[in-house]
Amino acid sequence: MTEPNLYSGLPHGLYIVATPIGNLGDLSTRALAVLGACGAVACEDTRVTGKLLHHAGLKKRLIRYDDHADEAVRERLLAMAAQEPVALVSDAGTPLISDPGYKLVKEARERGVNVVSVPGPSALIVALTLSGLPTDRFLFGGFLPVKDKARRDVLAELGAVRSTLVFYETSPRLLDALAAIEAALPGREVAVARELTKKFEECRSGSVADLVAHYTAHPPKGEIVLMIGPPGEQASEDLDIDALLRAELETQKPSQAAARLAKSYGLDRKMLYARALDLK
Ligand code: SAM
Repeated sequence: MTEPNLYSGLPHGLYIVATPIGNLGDLSTRALAVLGACGAVACEDTRVTGKLLHHAGLKKRLIRYDDHADEAVRERLLAMAAQEPVALVSDAGTPLISDPGYKLVKEARERGVNVVSVPGPSALIVALTLSGLPTDRFLFGGFLPVKDKARRDVLAELGAVRSTLVFYETSPRLLDALAAIEAALPGREVAVARELTKKFEECRSGSVADLVAHYTAHPPKGEIVLMIGPPGEQASEDLDIDALLRAELETQKPSQAAARLAKSYGLDRKMLYARALDLK
């Protein structure tokens, strides 16, 4: 245990404080107390955090920080956190989750600086809980890459994992990402969550074709979480395996067609390969 200090009894250390992702009402009582008691707040953007603190009726020393910041800034924050409570926030949600903080926390732990997490909103959890997709196992993939090949590689790598996949995405890239999912993982159920905790919050799920049709007619705005259901959700007896294989065989070799369908539907690759050879 660390000693309480001048800051209203809050022990010194680095406090990772989650902040709202849209609805200011989601700033927790504990987050408010920690922000109020800390000596300084490390943040991505002083204007964004300044507004949040203003809303909370607080005025604090703000220090701009991200993981690419000068080593000297990190050193300064670590030295401060060894003496007084220092909060780390990001623009929205939980720091370190596709946001800065990893290097700071790693260093703090290595040096024995007290590290405390003050939990709160994170878009990935809000989206997952709304999606109707399985929540027992999920894999958070951060932002999907922008470039086609890198995106294909990530989908091919993660597509075989028996988990719901969760990605951060931006609205201008949504339709491209959906097309890439259909190409890499045909037949999967997907869900798109937008504007979470805000006035126009929505979460839509269905086939890629359903969502492409909807978002072509209603171009999406705002921030987005894109989710892909795990393989093998569809009972194999409901699948027309021959039809799926024939479609794949139009453009691919039997081994590739088998590998792709095995990944998409969680079916046995050897069985698919044997059937693909028969159909060829
Ligand atoms: N650290 C944040 C968290 O814990 O959720 C994530 C920061 S990351 C830089 C920003 C991305 O998170 C956005 O591009 C979007 O994919 C997702 N996101 C953040 N707020 C969101 C919201 N209100 N609705 C939907 N997605 C959101």
